[in-house]
Amino acid sequence: MPLHRYAPVPSPCRLCGDGFEHRQSASEPDLHHCPTCGQAVARATIETVNTPKLLKPLSVSDAKNLGFSVFKKTSSGEFERQ
Ligand SMILES: [Zn+2]
Repeated sequence: MPLHRYAPVPSPCRLCGDGFEHRQSASEPDLHHCPTCGQAVARATIETVNTPKLLKPLSVSDAKNLGFSVFKKTSSGEFERQ
């Protein structure tokens, strides 16, 4: 579920400071009032906490291009440089 950050408008909220995070489903409407104190809030920076983008694993050629030595384990248990 995405995490949204809300900031009180116009001034920081006594109970929530300068904002709070609220986890809401995509179908749930945005909050317009602080659930704690009832002050008007606005959604601040959209911080969606989705699955982090998986880094593409380096291929052997990429690693070589980056200057890494690539070793391959041989069937005899030794590592040989490719
Ligand atoms: Zn509040």
